[in-house]
Amino acid sequence: MAKVLIIGAGGVGRVVTQKCVSVPEVFSSIMLASRTKSKCDVIAREVGQGRVETAQVDADNVPELVELINQFKPELVINVALPYQDLTIMDACLETGVHYLDTANYEPRDEAKFEYKWQWAYQDRFKEKDLTAILGCGFDPGVTSIFTSHAAKHHFDEIHYLDIVDCNGGDHGKAFATNFNPEINIREITQKGKYWENGQWVETEPFEFRKELNYPNIGSRSSYLLYHEELESLVKNFPTIKRARFWMTFGDEYLTHLRVIQNIGMSRIDSVKYKGVDMIPLEFLKEVLPNPGDLGENYTGETSIGCRIRGIKNGKEKTYYIWNNCSHQKAFDETGAQGVSYTTGVPAMLGAKMLLTGQWKKPGVFNVEEFNPDPFLEKLGEYGLPWHEESNIDIEV
Ligand code: NDP
Repeated sequence: MAKVLIIGAGGVGRVVTQKCVSVPEVFSSIMLASRTKSKCDVIAREVGQGRVETAQVDADNVPELVELINQFKPELVINVALPYQDLTIMDACLETGVHYLDTANYEPRDEAKFEYKWQWAYQDRFKEKDLTAILGCGFDPGVTSIFTSHAAKHHFDEIHYLDIVDCNGGDHGKAFATNFNPEINIREITQKGKYWENGQWVETEPFEFRKELNYPNIGSRSSYLLYHEELESLVKNFPTIKRARFWMTFGDEYLTHLRVIQNIGMSRIDSVKYKGVDMIPLEFLKEVLPNPGDLGENYTGETSIGCRIRGIKNGKEKTYYIWNNCSHQKAFDETGAQGVSYTTGVPAMLGAKMLLTGQWKKPGVFNVEEFNPDPFLEKLGEYGLPWHEESNIDIEV
């Protein structure tokens, strides 16, 4: 029985809140806080079953966070605000003696750069205070990292080649929309690509490498090599990996819009003056694009995210594929949110449950693959994300 504070009232915050409400034996008391309290109130009213308190907080401001945490006294903060807030929330957790969990690694506002170094630097401070910080507990990062540790534990003596494949085979009927926060999403996919090979990072131009990959129940989709943050911790934690890559599908229509957005300067993250006011083009663009949290109603199709792995077991080469498919419509019917929010929110709740029930509790700062994958994967299907695995098939990569 524990109190939990959820910060961030977007699509992911909605799913985490509903899922925590559905497990009262662990989350006995829940508070949802965010920059805009009215958004928390809507979520509490729609999915809170009368068990969710709400509050306003500016998570960029450590004293405000500390005051809220001291008032509510949670055991754990689940951070599903934006990656910019990771460090301030970690600071507040340290000051108040509270565990921490997030789904996306810190990035500075003025540079689209995904690196764990800022959060890994908190290792000693969390250890000294006997607190646990769990980093990247969404789907990717999150379940993809846990799939990899499951493969390493149960299917391979050595993993050699890891390809994480992320397909959104859904259709939301809009000409252009992103599936999670547009600002974070566009920053992520317009930066240079990068993959790990033979002990070093190889940089690529954005969208330089493309492969046609087949996804279960979806079919063939153009998949592009991107850099994604879990690659950094996975190659560190599984040093037998010779090559690690991340692929994500994009349709031609999406890429055309993205190219135009870049060409006309709307993806810029530096400040420009407009009518005497400083503004950041990408932050403005976010305000006029569809809200990812509102895409659910007419969203059809499925996401399919998994890991395709080659390596050695008992002296023999082996291939292995582990994946989840999630229906946007089913996610919406259950939670009022689309599949991408759902596939992020369910693992965040389950990681929180692992921590609060002692199964994933150890002092320090950890990526999810550093914990035992078994109790997590045992429960993942039950909470809405069933997974599948196949060995010695053509994995196409
Ligand atoms: P949204 O933009 O829909 O929601 C973010 C929420 O955070 C909003 O409610 C926003 O408030 C709030 N927020 C922003 N800044 C502050 C602040 N300074 N103080 C308090 N609250 C703040 O994003 P999503 O729900 O789509 O995504 C949430 C997180 O999940 C992101 O970090 C994203 O990167 C991550 N994610 C992870 C994935 C994974 O698989 N690991 C996949 C998808 C997302 P307001 O409403 O006022 O704007």
